[in-house]
Amino acid sequence: MLVVMQSRATTDEIRAICEKIEALGFRAHSVEGTERYAIAVTGDLQGIETCGLEELPGVAEIIRISKPYKLVGRESKPENTVVRFANSEVTIGGEEFAIIAGPCSVESRAQTLNVAEKVAAAGARLFRGGAYKPRTSPYAFQGMGVEGLKILAEVRERFGMLIVTEAVDIEALEAIEDYADMIQIGARNMQNFSLLKRAGRSPLPVLLKRGLSATLEELLMAAEYIMSEGNRNVVLCERGVRTFADHSRNTLDLSVIPAAQKLSHLPIISDPSHGTGKRDRVTPMALASAAAGADGLIVEVHHDPDHALSDGPQSLFPEQFAAMVGQLRGILPVVHRTLNSEPAKGRASAESQAGRS
Ligand code: PEP
Ligand code: MN
Repeated sequence: MLVVMQSRATTDEIRAICEKIEALGFRAHSVEGTERYAIAVTGDLQGIETCGLEELPGVAEIIRISKPYKLVGRESKPENTVVRFANSEVTIGGEEFAIIAGPCSVESRAQTLNVAEKVAAAGARLFRGGAYKPRTSPYAFQGMGVEGLKILAEVRERFGMLIVTEAVDIEALEAIEDYADMIQIGARNMQNFSLLKRAGRSPLPVLLKRGLSATLEELLMAAEYIMSEGNRNVVLCERGVRTFADHSRNTLDLSVIPAAQKLSHLPIISDPSHGTGKRDRVTPMALASAAAGADGLIVEVHHDPDHALSDGPQSLFPEQFAAMVGQLRGILPVVHRTLNSEPAKGRASAESQAGRS
């Protein structure tokens, strides 16, 4: 249910309505738009019709939300959400196309800094790298944990990129909050409801990947878990689903991009690395994702993919990544998107500037 406020409603009237909603045992979520201010009411809403909210001062109208994803859907918020980061100009979901790049796993300081320097120079503003890895085999590399997070924090400081890294469980999420800028919830955890709820109480934006066999509605309901706890900064990610196709690791479902954008105001990015599993398919599907209207990309890059501890076959060489960004610059104006022309600014770029003068 959505309580739409009159344009002249006062903050005291808004506060009184929120208090009434909470006193009735429901949750009130403010939904600020350019056209209107509304309060979304969530909870088991049976019987709320009789509570007389429409009689309260400042209320313009009460709208029933028909979809099960109350906060994620466009019914409660028609305008696109633009996800912003503390102390940064980087956005996801706005005019600028977001590029998140880096290795699948943080393997060592040298490997991570090597890749970071190259993707930053090529135009990535956000850096990915798993310090905690969800692996199919318990004997495969599981990630460096907190040591890996410290390396990622160094990447932020040296190269000025924001850090995106995966939380495989609540313990990892709480460690990540101390080091990173965005929490990734992986495909295998898309329906880990306790992890989603905890991410919903985090101050950091969340990158939510589609489950291996999840429908769009299931993805949106997973996002609803996060938003229902108060976190509005959620970015959806199409990363391919399991199909009968045997020419690729997964089938990157690009048609989900316009479908998600129709139903939800949340940004959606594409992961052509996991979506194809093969290096030579990554750039074509990255370009196709941009053309299909994605708000950004997350791409795996490794300086020595043959020796990568995870996902080497789908990792681009740094030069291939730079070439891909160059091609994106050709496509993005067609879909009315921009790409930063300035590389991210960190200590390393300040040092190289100083060296040049
Ligand atoms: C990853 O990003 O490295 C990863 C494990 O992704 P997914 O959850 O999509 O498999
Ligand atoms: Mn990976």
